[in-house]
Amino acid sequence: MSDIKHSRLAVIALGSNMGDSRAYVRKAAEEVAGLPGISLVKMSKLYQSEPAHVLDQDIFTNAVMTVEVDNTICALDLLHALQAIEIANDRVRHEHWGPRTLDLDIIDIQGELSDTEELRIPHPYALVRDFVVTPLLEIAPDYVLANGKPVTKDTVEYGAVISVE
Ligand code: ADP
Ligand code: MG
Repeated sequence: MSDIKHSRLAVIALGSNMGDSRAYVRKAAEEVAGLPGISLVKMSKLYQSEPAHVLDQDIFTNAVMTVEVDNTICALDLLHALQAIEIANDRVRHEHWGPRTLDLDIIDIQGELSDTEELRIPHPYALVRDFVVTPLLEIAPDYVLANGKPVTKDTVEYGAVISVE
């Protein structure tokens, strides 16, 4: 048996605040886990949060999942596959921080850093958003981002969540 790893762990955040937001999040999680070269490690419970930036919109359903990503799939491939799932799930509007049926963000990929406009990982707001931190700590209590920063509640600034299941 070789010790070479053929995949790395990634963290994906799911959010929705239009239509049946819980159903969108559950269905999207299944679709992400079903992508070729991706396998589910853990899925968090569903949470609810108040909108953070654009206040005049519905409550969000949020969740976080950890997945193993095959090394044949690069970070941008993963981003584009997530964007295709967003579009397939009725995501039409593109107002920044506005209402959406589905938002899939890459929070982190172990061993990888990216700071382009198209892909910033670790996600620049990961540690200040309770709707990312709380679900992530639920499924990965000792998670450390690829930039070496441990995930803790201490850095949270907004987006308080309550568990809904
Ligand atoms: P937001 O998630 O900030 O509300 P969008 O989902 O509309 O906004 O994404 C806007 C852009 O963010 C996308 O075009 C995408 O290329 C870029 N982006 C940069 N970093 C990431 C990331 N880590 N995960 C997902 N999208 C990202
Ligand atoms: Mg997004």
